[in-house]
Amino acid sequence: MAYTPLAADPAAPPVRINLLSDTQTRPTPAMREVMARAEVGDEQLGMDPTVNALCARAAALLGKEAAVFMPSGTMCNVAAELTHCRPGDEILAHETAHILTSEGGAHAALGGFQILPLTGERGQFSAATLEAALREPSRYAPRQALVSAEQTANIGGGTMWPRAELAAVARAASAAGLATHLDGARLMNASVASGVAASDIAAGWDSVWLDFTKGLGAPLGAVLAGSRPFIDEVWRWKQRLGGAMRQAGLCAAACLYALDHHVERLADDHALARKLAAGLSQIPGFEVQTPDTNLVFFDVAGAGLMAPHLIAGLRRHGILLGALGGRVRACTHLDIDEAMIDETLDTIRALARRA
Ligand SMILES: *Cc1c(COP(=O)(O)O)cnc(C)c1O
Repeated sequence: MAYTPLAADPAAPPVRINLLSDTQTRPTPAMREVMARAEVGDEQLGMDPTVNALCARAAALLGKEAAVFMPSGTMCNVAAELTHCRPGDEILAHETAHILTSEGGAHAALGGFQILPLTGERGQFSAATLEAALREPSRYAPRQALVSAEQTANIGGGTMWPRAELAAVARAASAAGLATHLDGARLMNASVASGVAASDIAAGWDSVWLDFTKGLGAPLGAVLAGSRPFIDEVWRWKQRLGGAMRQAGLCAAACLYALDHHVERLADDHALARKLAAGLSQIPGFEVQTPDTNLVFFDVAGAGLMAPHLIAGLRRHGILLGALGGRVRACTHLDIDEAMIDETLDTIRALARRA
């Protein structure tokens, strides 16, 4: 079945307020400026100085020995799984995890892995839930190789794991001999919101990555970090997957710029998300999850609305939101300001009144 995203509907007016995802940001003029000036070389030969600088900086930021530049966060997840696991292995992850819901079954298609979905509130699972899911080693059971968690948990509501619970999960996994992988698509959102350094959040996790194309506002790129031997093995998969690049320093320059200029300001996104959530929660019948970071999930069924209808109604006003996991999702980011939040709230109120 062909998939036509609502965002691309040619009959709808241009999108003026884009809350669909924090991936919707465009590189700023200043970011484009540093991209244009970037020193570059052949990335797959290790000869791109800007990529090398980014990897060194990201490894330090994440508290790991080494890091590698990847075209996308999905490739970070897939290459890490392929490095940690062998065909037939089992990965333990939350039932709403991106690796399970949103990567086209890459773990199964490319690795021959299965995922054991764990349950828990807000996209998180406890160390006790993990321990209860551990299998007695036997030749009947799949070998359990990897535990993967998201910080922040996307479909969970952009939620932030409490630091102690995340550490307890990593400890429980390591004690059972499993490798640990932290999907940090929005790790810097968690770091800014909690005031905990990214390296402290990732301590005890064997591999961790962060995405530059979410709230950090770069056009492409993610960095996967871990021990030196782990990253050496990841490189083999990066080559196999076609993720080894050439003059990628153009993009790495944007990522370095984002680390310098777009981290602290994530707090502004979080404040706008809280404002949006507070306004939405006053609409009769709306059920709004209080945001930890920049994602606002809400349920409109109680107001006699269906999520796709509300989204289509907003789209006709040039406002773009999405549905995820049965709820409406709005993401705040670099290209969203307070006036846009006010206009979005006014428009949603009007649509809800008419329902
Ligand atoms: C966006 C996202 C990814 C994938 O990142 P891409 O750069 O879009 O490939 C993985 N995990 C989570 C939690 C995400 O939100």
